[in-house]
Amino acid sequence: MLRKEELKAKVCQEIDNRKEETIGLAKAILESPELGFREVNTAKLVSRKFTELGIPHRRDIGLTGVKGSVSGGNSGPSVCVMGELDSLIVPDHPYADKTTGAAHACGHNVQIAMMYSVAAAIVKTGVLPALAGRVIFIAVPAEEGIEIEYRYGLIKQGKLHYSTGKPEFISLGEMDDIDITMMTHTSPDLENKKIAAVESMNGVIRKRVQFIGKSAHAGGQPHKGINALNAAMIALTSINAQRETFQDADTIRVHPIITKGGDVVNAVPADVRIESYVRGKTAPALLDANEKVNRAFRAGAMAVGAKVNIITIPGSMPLVTYPELWSNYKRNTTSIVSEEEIGNVGHRTGSSDIGDVSQIMPTIHPFCAGVTGTSHGNDYLTKDYDLALINPAKAMAMTVIDLLSDNALRAKEVLSKSKPPMTKEQYVKSLDSLFTEEEYQG
Ligand SMILES: [Zn+2]
Ligand SMILES: [Zn+2]
Repeated sequence: MLRKEELKAKVCQEIDNRKEETIGLAKAILESPELGFREVNTAKLVSRKFTELGIPHRRDIGLTGVKGSVSGGNSGPSVCVMGELDSLIVPDHPYADKTTGAAHACGHNVQIAMMYSVAAAIVKTGVLPALAGRVIFIAVPAEEGIEIEYRYGLIKQGKLHYSTGKPEFISLGEMDDIDITMMTHTSPDLENKKIAAVESMNGVIRKRVQFIGKSAHAGGQPHKGINALNAAMIALTSINAQRETFQDADTIRVHPIITKGGDVVNAVPADVRIESYVRGKTAPALLDANEKVNRAFRAGAMAVGAKVNIITIPGSMPLVTYPELWSNYKRNTTSIVSEEEIGNVGHRTGSSDIGDVSQIMPTIHPFCAGVTGTSHGNDYLTKDYDLALINPAKAMAMTVIDLLSDNALRAKEVLSKSKPPMTKEQYVKSLDSLFTEEEYQG
C-alpha cells in the first residue's frame, strides 16, 4: 500500500496533467452562464464529465443538481467536495449572456472545474483502494439568492422547497450520507494571500414585499387613488431610520431594491414591489433586525392607507467554523504555498448557503486568490488559474486523502472534535419557522 505522501503526490500530478482540460472547463462554463435552478446545460456538462471519469451519479436533484459518489477500499466516513453551478445577473460583464444578462461574476465556473479536477484526481490515480469511506462530488444549484419572485413561484408550485440549492439538497436528504463538506471559493480581496480561512459569515433572510394601493388618473384625480409608490418610499425611509439601532458587532445589512415602481406614468401607482435582504452575524440579531424591517414596511402602508403584503423567506444560515477541519486543509495547503501566503479573513458580512451545511456538519469554505475585480461586479475575472483552480484543487484532493487514509483516522478525529449547532431535523424546523406571509392594511 502506498504511503500517504505518495498518494498525495499522485493526485497533485494528475491535477497538473489535466490543467489544460480543467481550465478549458472553467472557460466553457464562463462563456455559457446560467441562473440558479436553471443551470441545465452546465449540469449536463458536469454529468458528461462524470460519465467520462466513470463516476456513478444522479442528475436533476433540486431541479439541476448533480451528485456523484465513489467508494474507497474500506467503509468509513463520507467527504463531500462541492462546486456551485449558478451565475449572477450582470448584463455589462464581458462574458454576460446577451439574452439573460447572466454572468459568472462570482467565479462559480472555476469552482465547478475545481471540483471536477479533484474528482478526476481521486478516481484516475488508483488512490481509492487506500481510502476508508466515500468521496462525494456535488455540483449544487443556485447559491446566489437572486430572482426571489421567480423562486418563490417555484416554491408555490411545489417544485422547490427553499430559495437556494444547499437547503434544498439538505431537505431532500441528499446530505444525509455525508459527514464532512468542503468547497473553495475564489475571492478578489485576499491582498497578498493565496488561500485564506473564512471564520464566519452573516446569515440572511429574504423578503418579497408588495404594496397595494388604488389606481386613479395621476393628473386628473390623484385624490381618488392610493399611492403605493409613496407607501414604499416611506417604508424605505423608515428602514433607514432603524440603522442607528443596529449594533456594529451584529454586522446587520439591509439592502432593499424596488423591482416594480408602478404600471404607467399617468396613473397613481397601485402595485409596487420590493425585494430585500436582512443579514446578521447571529440568529437573534438577524431576527431582531427582521422585525424592525417589517415594522418599517407596515409604517409605509399605514401612512397612506395602502395594503402591504410581506413575504419572508429563509435565506442562508450563518457560517460556523470548524478549526479541526481547517487545520487539515491548511496543513495540505502549506505543501503548495508558503505559510505566509495563507491568511484568515475572519468574519464576512456576505452570506452563502454553505452556512446551512455548516449548521449540521463539519464544513469549510476557504477563499483562494487568482481573480481580479469586484465580487459580483462587471470586472470580476479569473487572472491566474494556478491560484484560482489548480492550487485549491490540490489542497482539497490532498485533504480528502488526509481525512480518509489510515483507516480514516483524521476524518474520525474531525468528527469527534466538531460540534455542529443543529441536527438536520432541527435545521429544517428552524428554516420552516422563518417562512411567513403577513398582510397589513394601513
Ligand atoms: Zn456570489
Ligand atoms: Zn459565490
